Amino acid sequence: MDDYHVIAFYAFFPVEDPHLEVKRQKKFLAERDMRGRIYISEEGYNGQLSASPDASNEYIAWMKDDPRFADVQFKIQTFHEHPFDRVTVKYREQIVAMDEKVDMQLVGEHVAPKKWREMLESRDEDTILIDVRNNYESEVGHFEGAECPDLETFREFPEYANRLAKRLDTKNTKVMMYCTGGIRCELYSSLMKERGFENVYQLDGGVINYGMQEGSKHWKGKLFVFDDRMVVPISEDNDEVLTVCKDCGVSCDHYFNCARMDCNDLFISCLECAKKARGCCSESCLKEGRVRPFNPDHAPRPYRRLSKEEKEHLAGT
Ligand SMILES: [Zn+2]
Ligand SMILES: [Zn+2]
Repeated sequence: MDDYHVIAFYAFFPVEDPHLEVKRQKKFLAERDMRGRIYISEEGYNGQLSASPDASNEYIAWMKDDPRFADVQFKIQTFHEHPFDRVTVKYREQIVAMDEKVDMQLVGEHVAPKKWREMLESRDEDTILIDVRNNYESEVGHFEGAECPDLETFREFPEYANRLAKRLDTKNTKVMMYCTGGIRCELYSSLMKERGFENVYQLDGGVINYGMQEGSKHWKGKLFVFDDRMVVPISEDNDEVLTVCKDCGVSCDHYFNCARMDCNDLFISCLECAKKARGCCSESCLKEGRVRPFNPDHAPRPYRRLSKEEKEHLAGT
């Protein structure tokens, strides 16, 4: 059986009637073998989808018929099953959550993967390479020599940018920044410019695009993604593991969400240790109750709403 396409795209442009576009998208997806999530706001689109190759081709052709999407990049990876469990198309006030309003016109210079690689290779001491993703993302993979700030959520970036602006010479420092698919850099590079940085470069299409075009050169580890795959190689030549099981120390980069519903923390564990802990991050979580049933055949998987069977199981405990 053919692999599924996992599609990632985003676009910023004024959307007059986002609610109407939500309806159109829903209809198109519902009629085909497609899953995933699309968020639409007055300022644009953010989409991650999985689809059979036929549906994927149809979708991209349909989107490209709309002149607003003519130049939008649709990045495609493959996976053996749907990494999403359903279709979610929703209106959102912001397609990337950040509390601060930034002027998106400022945006940093987009650098294509090949040029990005060359820039990495000729990097001087006035250049800083920053990974703008969260700590659990950069932990399993990042570019060689990148500064990986200890951010737990997207919302902490503005504060980090303030600290950088104090620490570095904003006029002469070259800032190279990257994220998963590029969308966060659209916002964060604008923010860096507002903080006074004059030379800001962002990896066009993010690490996904880099992996597709340049392989894993200068990349260490793997790529965290926000779907059932959780951690994926960025290219065929990429199988490096940077992290270890928190319990037994064996080399491993599988993430689990703690099975105790009120904890839900991400942790890295091998399957054996996760089985022993019944999917919990700690002994105390295991003891405290309200623990989702742990199914090793479906692990590791990100947390999502309980299935009917899981609810019944919990009701019985
Ligand atoms: Zn282990
Ligand atoms: Zn826990």
